Amino acid sequence: VQMSLEAAREASEERGLEQAPIARRNFGIAAHIDSGKTTLSERILFYAGRIRKIHEVRGKDGVGATMDSMELERERGITIASAATYLNWQRGFHLNLIDTPGHVDFTIEVERAMRVLDGAILVLCGVSGVQSQSLTVDRQMRRYRVPRLTFVNKLDRQGANPERVLQQLMEKLHQPAAFLTFPIGLERDLCGVVDVIRQQAIYFDGGYGEQLRIEDNLPSSLQHKAEQARRLLIERLANVDERFGDLFIEQEYRVPDEEIHRAVRRATIARSFTPVFCGSALRNIGVQPLLDAVVSYLPSPVEVRSFAMQGEAEQRIPLEPDAGAPLVSLAFKLEDGRFGQLTYVRVYQGTLRRGETVYNVRTGKRLRVPRLVRLHADQMEDIQEAAAGDICAMFGLDCASGDTFTDERGLEKRLTLESIRVPEPVI
Ligand code: GDP
Repeated sequence: VQMSLEAAREASEERGLEQAPIARRNFGIAAHIDSGKTTLSERILFYAGRIRKIHEVRGKDGVGATMDSMELERERGITIASAATYLNWQRGFHLNLIDTPGHVDFTIEVERAMRVLDGAILVLCGVSGVQSQSLTVDRQMRRYRVPRLTFVNKLDRQGANPERVLQQLMEKLHQPAAFLTFPIGLERDLCGVVDVIRQQAIYFDGGYGEQLRIEDNLPSSLQHKAEQARRLLIERLANVDERFGDLFIEQEYRVPDEEIHRAVRRATIARSFTPVFCGSALRNIGVQPLLDAVVSYLPSPVEVRSFAMQGEAEQRIPLEPDAGAPLVSLAFKLEDGRFGQLTYVRVYQGTLRRGETVYNVRTGKRLRVPRLVRLHADQMEDIQEAAAGDICAMFGLDCASGDTFTDERGLEKRLTLESIRVPEPVI
C-alpha cells in the first residue's frame, strides 16, 4: 500500500490503538547533545504539517543531503525555538512539544520543564548509545516521574548497532525495554522499520519519507527476527505487568495485538517499561511510528496526578484535571522571542479565559488575562481559552517564571504550584 502524507496520517490513526480519553499529549524530547534532537523535532513538525519544508543539513559523516550553511542552521533553529509548540497528529489529537533544557542538571528551569510535560522521548545515538548526558536526562525523568519512549537514532551511520543500544538501556539505565520497531537494513542499507506487534514492514518513500508503504508480508529474511522480537516484547511485558503475565501463561505467545498494545501502555505509564523505536531522523525513517506511539502509549493530562501546595503549611493536595474546577496554572517560562515578551502557562485545573480576572498567588496582584495564544512552528494562533491539561502563552504579563495564577475560587483555597516561602539564608 502506497500513500500520501495525508493518507499516512489517517492510516496512523487506524493503527493507533487504545487511545486515552483525552486527545492531548504534552511531551518533550531529551537527549545527549548531538544525538539528533533538533533534527527529530523538525521532522515531527514536518509530518504533523506544521512546516512545509525540511532544511537538509549534512550529517557529520557526509550522510544526508545538500547544503550546510550558517544561514540554514539559524533558520531551522528559529523554526523550533518555542518553549511549547502546538501540533496535531492523527485526527483530533493535539500535541504540545515542549522544549527541555536537556543536559543541565538540578536547575529550576529543568524542574519546570519536567513538571509541565506528561511524557518524553529519550533520543539515543545508534552508534554511541547511552552517553553521559543520557544519564543526566534519565535521572531528571525519574525524579519527575516522566514516562518515556526511546528513539534509537542515526541507524544510517557506520557502526550503528541497535541491539547494543537496547542492551545499554537495560544495563546502564536499568530500564526494562524492548523493540516496538526495529530497522530494516542498517547503515547505507537502512530503508524502513518492522512494526514488531503487527509484524508489518513500513517503508518511508517520497522525498522526505512522507509516504508510507506498509507491507503485511515480511521479507523472509526478516520473519524470524520479527517473531523473536515479538516474543521478547511479550516476555518483558509479562515480567512487569501481572495482568499481562497471566494472559501470557494461558495463551503462550498467541496474545492478541490489542492486548500487547494495552500492556505496553500500562507499563509505560507506570514507568516500569520503555518501548524502543528505531530509525534515522536525518534520513526520514521511523519518525511517524514514534509519533503514533506518543499518542498510543504516553499518558494524557487526565491520567497524570498533579499536586499543588496549600496555605502556610504548604500541604500537598491533588489537583483535578477538570475544566470546571477552580483555576490553578503555572507560568513555566518567560520568553523574549520573535513575537515579543511571552509567558508560557500550563493549566492544571480549571480554565484560563481571555479577558477574565486572575490572581498571581505570589504577589497577590489581580490582573485581566490579556491576549492568549498557541505557538505553531512559525506562526501564532489566538485562542479564547485554555482548559485543564492545556498549554498556552500570554502576552504582556507582568510576572516571574514559577508564578501560580488562580481565580477567585482558587484564591480562597490558597493553592500554589511552587513554594512561595523565602528560603532560609545560609550562614
Ligand atoms: P542535537 O544536538 O541533539 O539537537 O542534534 P542535531 O539534530 O543538531 O544533530 C546533530 C548532528 O547529527 C547534525 O549534523 C545532524 O545532521 C546529524 N544527524 C541527526 N540525525 C541523524 C541521523 O539520523 N543520521 C545521521 N547520519 N546524522 C544525523
